[in-house]
Order: sequence, then C-alpha cells, then structure tokens
Amino acid sequence: MKNHDDRIIIFDTTLRDGEQAPGATLNVEEKITIARQLARLGVDVIEAGFAFASPGDFEAVKRIAELVGTEDGPVICSLARALPADVKAAADALKPAVHKRIHTFISTSDIHLEYQLKKTRSEVLTIAEEMVTYAKSFVEDVEFSPMDAARSEPAYLYQVLERAIAAGATTINIPDTVGYMTPNEFGDMIRGIKENVPNVDQAIISVHGHNDLGLAVASFLEAIKHGARQLECTINGIGERAGNAALEELVMALHVRRQYFNPFIGRPVESEAPITGINTTEIYRTSRLVSNLTGMLVQPNKAIVGANAFAHESGIHQDGMLKNRNTYEIMDAQSIGLTNNQMVLGKHSGRNAFRTRLNELGFELGDTELNKAFVRFKELADKKKEITDWDLESIANDETQQPPELFRLEMAQVSCGSNAQPTATVRIRTPDGEELMDAAIGTGPVDAIYKAINRVVQVPNELIEFSVQSVTAGIDAIGEVTIRLKHDDRIFSGRSANTDIIVASAQAYVNALNRLYAAMTSGELKRTHAQHAAGREAASV
Ligand code: MN
Repeated sequence: MKNHDDRIIIFDTTLRDGEQAPGATLNVEEKITIARQLARLGVDVIEAGFAFASPGDFEAVKRIAELVGTEDGPVICSLARALPADVKAAADALKPAVHKRIHTFISTSDIHLEYQLKKTRSEVLTIAEEMVTYAKSFVEDVEFSPMDAARSEPAYLYQVLERAIAAGATTINIPDTVGYMTPNEFGDMIRGIKENVPNVDQAIISVHGHNDLGLAVASFLEAIKHGARQLECTINGIGERAGNAALEELVMALHVRRQYFNPFIGRPVESEAPITGINTTEIYRTSRLVSNLTGMLVQPNKAIVGANAFAHESGIHQDGMLKNRNTYEIMDAQSIGLTNNQMVLGKHSGRNAFRTRLNELGFELGDTELNKAFVRFKELADKKKEITDWDLESIANDETQQPPELFRLEMAQVSCGSNAQPTATVRIRTPDGEELMDAAIGTGPVDAIYKAINRVVQVPNELIEFSVQSVTAGIDAIGEVTIRLKHDDRIFSGRSANTDIIVASAQAYVNALNRLYAAMTSGELKRTHAQHAAGREAASV
C-alpha cells in the first residue's frame, strides 16, 4: 500500500464489524454490491469479513477479493484471530486480490489474559509475534490489533506493539472496543504509543472504536491530532451495539475543517488538498445502498446522511428560502451527492437506457434480475410520470437483495376502511411447491395481512420493527417497507418497495420470513425443514 504520510487512510469495516449489527446480515451478493460501491466511494481498505468464521464469510471475502480487489482497487482485508488456522483461512480467501491485508488481533489486557485467553503476558507476546510473522509469510500488508488496548497496562501494550512491528506489522490498530474512552483520553493513548514504541515510525497507527457514548467520531479526530493515520469506520455508523464510528461523519469533518486539521498532518494550514481519498459525492448513494441492503434505517436527524441533514435545501421549497446559503450551511448537499436526483427515465425509455443508467448507478444485474427489474420499471412508469435515480435504485436494490424465494407471495388482497373489519387474503407457494390460501382479520390492513401470512407459513416470530418510507416526494411515490423480526434471539430483516404500501408490507414480511426459514432449514437454527413441514401439516388439520 502506498505511503500516506499526509493523507488519512479510510479503512471501511461495514462488511465485517458493521455486519455484526443484530439483523444486518447480508448475503454474498449483497456484500459484493456494497464492496463495489465502497470501491467507487474511494475507500483505501475494505475489511470484507472474517474468513475463518463460516464458509459463507470465506466465500464473501474470496469473491470480493476477486471482483473488487483489482490493480486500481482498494486493499481487501480479512480479519483473523491470532491462530494459525484463522490466518491461513484469511490468506486463502484473499489470494485473488491484487492488494491484500491480513488483520490479526489478540487481547492485551490482564483481565482478558487471565479470564478469556488463560495465558501469561509473555505467552501473548510470543503469539502476537508468531502470528504476525505467519501472516507476513502470505502477504506484505499485515495489520495487528491489541484488543482491549484501553484497559491494557501501557508499558506492556508498547512492548507488544514493538514486537508486532518488528515481526512485520505495517499497521497497528488501537481499538476502544467498548466505546468507553473520552476523546482526550483516546488522544493521550495514541500520543503515548507514538512516544513510547521505539519502532512506531515503521507502521501506520490506526484507530477503531464504538459509539456507546456517542464519542467515536470525536475520539478519532482527536487521535489524528496525536498521530493516527488510519480510521476504521462503517457507512451510517452501523455495527455492534451503538455502532462504529461513521465514515461519512469522519470524512466530512476532515473535509469541511481541513484547515483546522492540516497542521496536525504536516500540511500548510491553507492547503486545499483533500485529506482523504474519498469521493464525497458518492457518500449519499453509499449510505442509501447500505441502509437498503442491511435494513438498518438512518435516523432523520443523522449527521450528513439523515433525511433532515440538508432539509432546507431539498424538496419543493428549495428556491428562494435563503438569501445567502453560507449563512446557515457549512457544506452543500451536492458535496455528498444528494442533489443528483433528477428525472432520468420515463415511460418510453427502453431496456438499454434502463440498463445503462443502472450501470452508471453502480448496479450490475444479471440477465434474470435485469429482466425482472425492467418489468418493475415499466409497471412503475405506468403509475408514475417521473422516474428518478432514487426510484431506480429502489427497484434495483429490491432485485439484488434476494433472500432465497422459499415462500412466494402469489397474491395479496386486503379490504379495510372506516366501520369495517380489516380482512386479508393471501395465496402463497410453499417450498414444496404447494399453493396455500388463507385469510385473517386484524386491527389494521398490515396486521391482517401478516396474520394471514402467518397462518400459511407457520414460522413463529415476533415482529419488532416496521417502517414505511417514501423514496421520493409526491402522492405517486414508491413506499419502501423495512421490517425486522425476531426468532430464537436472532433478528432477520426484510425490505420491499412498491407504490402500494400494503403489497410492499406483505412482500417485506415474506422476504424476512424466507431468510428466517433459510437459516432454520440450513441447520443454523434448531428446527428442521421436516419439522416445519410437519408443523404446517399439523396446522392444516
Ligand atoms: Mn469493533
């Protein structure tokens, strides 16, 4: 990897740490779609997964290495515990990438050593050294993280880092795994490392942190002032618990306030050179893609990418609202790619125009998906005069996000109104090819249709989130429904888009149930396909 003395390296871990958020589970195709967009966004490193964790993770890292890890592409990285089999799996999965990195880690705090690893300090020191050396036998680019660095004894931490660098680690990553430190403390820790690790100049200092107290971004910015040059972050800040530091916030803070940060990274104050390699105009699109595919919605007041972040500029009131934008704006919506939402296609647009625009938007659909998406586009064009990029993205996301179609919603019909009992009828094709029809009443149309679906599918679950958002303004807008449901402490999400929100609601529910059912029947969850078929049989008696 190139030397970035005065540039901040953006290490994106949306596909590894971000995907650990409950319910954010992505399939391999979805991960590839996101990885491609991350490359377009210009991230320096993509942590594509944890190759050893499961065959699915291995496959995802490998495919991303093949398809996105090109000569001009980003570094592709896999996480690996400091164990030979982990490091080997990472190396194997990364093989197709031109630029590849193994990221290995081990805990260095006494509390973890004693209770989790059951190892002494000197044993851990040796393991760190050996595993970095082993990783180095496969790749040039090795990152080492001392887990729980914040609670490690500083002198010991410095020693481990020194040995890891001596063994060949080119990046040392300092995590605040539990999101506990204040920005000041985090900055001090980085300064301590910079001052006390003798060979620290031979490696790049990286930071990793979580947002439990809402301080991750602030802590990272402080760390930069004390020598950190790589930031580990995720799109929309998704990740375990309160999430990781948000990429878009870090990048825009460094962009908008570059004159403040320039001196800390050895540049003249006035320098206009970008501090990161990120193409900021791809931020908004990346945010939407990640939100759509993970089912993790972005709160409206979220910095940079929330629906209200630039509210005074978007929508129909945009003209003449402000005499001088600079009075209230520190950045404009165009800088994150928010205003490229013009009418692009209409009723008479052909297949080629449709395909071309989708490619420009970053979607590479297979023939079957493209055919299905084109039919959807034509249907939509009949209902809605102006088809925008956002509509196209919504359709394409729907087609690329394919949970296995085990249950297929063939028909959904609801009647409701004032002084009426909401009643729904559904016809569903089961995985065995059987067509089942059932009906239910509910407190509202969505409740009725979900109850009807449950009567057919017979997979116990608890609906924990249901949300509808409109993709564009106007009465003919597409509604996007995102739902999350829980089964055996695991969360599954489903998403669908349609101009009819009841249809979208039904489809989103079936999509989530298909994911749940797939996990169940693949043995990931306890009950088997046969048990389920038996359950359905019993229910139809
Ligand atoms: Mn983490």
